[in-house]
Amino acid sequence: MQLKQAEAVANLSAPIDGIDEDRDLFQVAVEQFAIAADVLGLDDDMREILSHCQRELIVNFPVEMDDGSVDVFTGYRVQHNSGPGPTKGGIRYHQSVTLSEVKALAMWMTWKCAVVGLPYGGAKGGVQVNPKLLSQAELQNLTRRYTTEIQPFIGPNQDIPAPDVNTNPQIMAWLMDTYSMNIGYSVPGVTTGKPIVLGGSEGRSEATGRGCVFTIENTARVLGLDLAKARTVVQGFGNAGSVAARLMAELGSPVVAVSDSRGGVYNPDGLDLTGVNAHKLRTGTVVGFSEAESITNEEVLVLPTEVLIPAALENQITADNAGMIQAQVIAEAANGPTTPEADHILYDRGIFVIPDILANAGGVTVSYFEWVQALQAFPWTEHEVNERLRQIMNRSFEAVYGTSTNYAVHMRTAALVRAIDRVAEFTRLRGIYP
Ligand code: GLU
Repeated sequence: MQLKQAEAVANLSAPIDGIDEDRDLFQVAVEQFAIAADVLGLDDDMREILSHCQRELIVNFPVEMDDGSVDVFTGYRVQHNSGPGPTKGGIRYHQSVTLSEVKALAMWMTWKCAVVGLPYGGAKGGVQVNPKLLSQAELQNLTRRYTTEIQPFIGPNQDIPAPDVNTNPQIMAWLMDTYSMNIGYSVPGVTTGKPIVLGGSEGRSEATGRGCVFTIENTARVLGLDLAKARTVVQGFGNAGSVAARLMAELGSPVVAVSDSRGGVYNPDGLDLTGVNAHKLRTGTVVGFSEAESITNEEVLVLPTEVLIPAALENQITADNAGMIQAQVIAEAANGPTTPEADHILYDRGIFVIPDILANAGGVTVSYFEWVQALQAFPWTEHEVNERLRQIMNRSFEAVYGTSTNYAVHMRTAALVRAIDRVAEFTRLRGIYP
């Protein structure tokens, strides 16, 4: 790794040139890449290759709705780089999905897989839809037709989808079944995050939150922070956020606030998470939980706390609120929650950020375990899964933290530097064909 320390330090303190507040998410991803590429001294040809996505598929497809009418939806599947192996990444269903967002998320998947050393390149998919407005039958129709549209692009040795925002094991089961029916035999390795009876892995549904908490434990150790006394705030109470909240509480941390897309709840003495979960199950939201004060999603991020876990969507911590954040540690369970401008502000304020491509890599790591189990038709126990996950997360944290201290760069740049170096090595060794 050819790190240039002086440049790295200069990069952290220099203002970012040409920042356009309205730039899209892929631009943000390329900007982060460029900062790390400078630190690495990456040559121009390699920069050019890695700052593009290899394949971008757009599909517009009809779905039959319950009332007999037909709606046309737009979906995407993007593969950023297949140098390290088959591409891997989730599929999200959200009304605000765009091609640029999916491209950024695909690029981040490449770096994420490289940071934890998985034999995958990165990919991502998405459909522009609010799934909360669909019936189960419509959701199934949409999933099966989208799968058929992207079928030539995916496969167990080619590109392996998984759950992401608003997708779940049932949706992965429909995806796996559709692919299998089209091909004529069962292919459990085409996706991960499946229900356990269909070849899903023990521990997969909790893996993103669990991996995130492993990185927080590592951070607490290096910072000398006692987690049993440290408060936690979680923005986003979905698959990653709710599990991270529970595991932080199991470590003794008072979880003082949680939120979802409708708002948040705050109790400075610590929330009763069993009660919050029951309330969410009953009403569909954490808002209105009786033993807490109601707060807005913006307020959640700036509450007094030691640990802040953004576990919702991208672009939450920006130049507008980074100066007001009170946390000592930010663990990015979501993808892309912090903008590059906010990164500078947080670094200058001494806030320790565990970047998304490390903090939320537990999900894809256990997806990899699931894929290995599917290819070998040999299931592992939950204990084996969690222990191997712990080893990989601890080792990856150590490596990234070492790079960050050795070269005086913040954790995001350190993680990117390691990831880009690895992917560039694959690309160089494989060469260009034809
Ligand atoms: N959607 C998750 C992520 O962003 C998991 C991806 C996977 O398991 O392939 O990391």
